[in-house]
Amino acid sequence: MKRIAAKMLVTPSGIMADPIVTIEGEHILEISTRSAQQTAHIDYDFPDRTLTPGLLDIHFHGIAGQDVMNAFHEGFEDIAHSLARVGVSRFLPTTVTASLDATMLALERMADYIHADPIAGTSQAAGIHIEGPFLSHAKRGMHSAEHLLSPSPELLDQLWEAARGNIRLMTIAPELPGALETIKHATALGIRSSMGHSMATRAEAIAGIKSGIVSATHTFNAMRAFDHREPGILGVVLDQEDLYADLICDGYHVAPEAVRLWLKAKGQERAILITDCLSAAGMPNGKYMTGETVVHVEGDACRTDTGVLAGSVIALDRAVSNLSKTARAELHTAVRLASINPARMLGLPESLVPGALADFNVYDAEGVRRECFIRGSLIE
Ligand SMILES: [Zn+2]
Repeated sequence: MKRIAAKMLVTPSGIMADPIVTIEGEHILEISTRSAQQTAHIDYDFPDRTLTPGLLDIHFHGIAGQDVMNAFHEGFEDIAHSLARVGVSRFLPTTVTASLDATMLALERMADYIHADPIAGTSQAAGIHIEGPFLSHAKRGMHSAEHLLSPSPELLDQLWEAARGNIRLMTIAPELPGALETIKHATALGIRSSMGHSMATRAEAIAGIKSGIVSATHTFNAMRAFDHREPGILGVVLDQEDLYADLICDGYHVAPEAVRLWLKAKGQERAILITDCLSAAGMPNGKYMTGETVVHVEGDACRTDTGVLAGSVIALDRAVSNLSKTARAELHTAVRLASINPARMLGLPESLVPGALADFNVYDAEGVRRECFIRGSLIE
């Protein structure tokens, strides 16, 4: 048994002062306060720091040279180690659009990793996100045009079987023929649907929500632009109170004004931070392959040969600190958007509550992440 004390604790239900978190093995046994446990032995004391839930990245393509589309078991181990070092305790490996055969093989390897025994002190793959093949040609971004497919429940079943039931999230353009019945089928399987890479009109986006869409993928990016008479998918995403909406907060994908408008519109309960990061994340400046596309990394920006922004090269802890600066968000809000909200959207177990895995980060008084505990172990 281990006891960890701090100044503050961010939990799904709010903020708590002078917490003591008791860990038994990999799980949280109890959350109490210093005054309630005055004589208890404390193993780690952080008197001026805040404990926050472990981060959860639901849109993640790779890091440190490893791409989830090509990774085998060792590659996923490297990924899981790299993520633990930046405070990400759970992630959804996310496909990019590829041939159906390549996608099925990637899903099989992801499922193999998810079913393998977890390695101590590493991030956990908590399911799979399929980004494509059900995307709009007009808003495909860097997804391969030749491999985009019309959605159908039968095709989703094929992907579901290859992934052995581990798909948790699907990005889909709701205006495509067959999309609405595919979204209904996804919901029946337990998959959350998120609209994105889409030219949907207002009416098409609303029809998607009525069929089961619960979130939006990288808000503003790869979406029909807002018009005051045809607000389109973006207007619906920002307006519909119950809809979650995620965003890439890397300083390049979305301008600061748009980040702040998004946060005002979605609020602390429905906004989600993602990275959309590629295998070039955590690598020096240079030229890299992502799937079959060449990308150039310079600082925190990653562009294709034609200068189009590809995914990001930041990890989720950076998105949290970027949001704190861009939107002057308090630490507990910024962290919540990258931990509690995505877990709720997906229906995954919550963090920093009794019975949960002991996954949490320790932030100093300046809002800088210092330590990370994963399944009860301090990550060095
Ligand atoms: Zn995308």
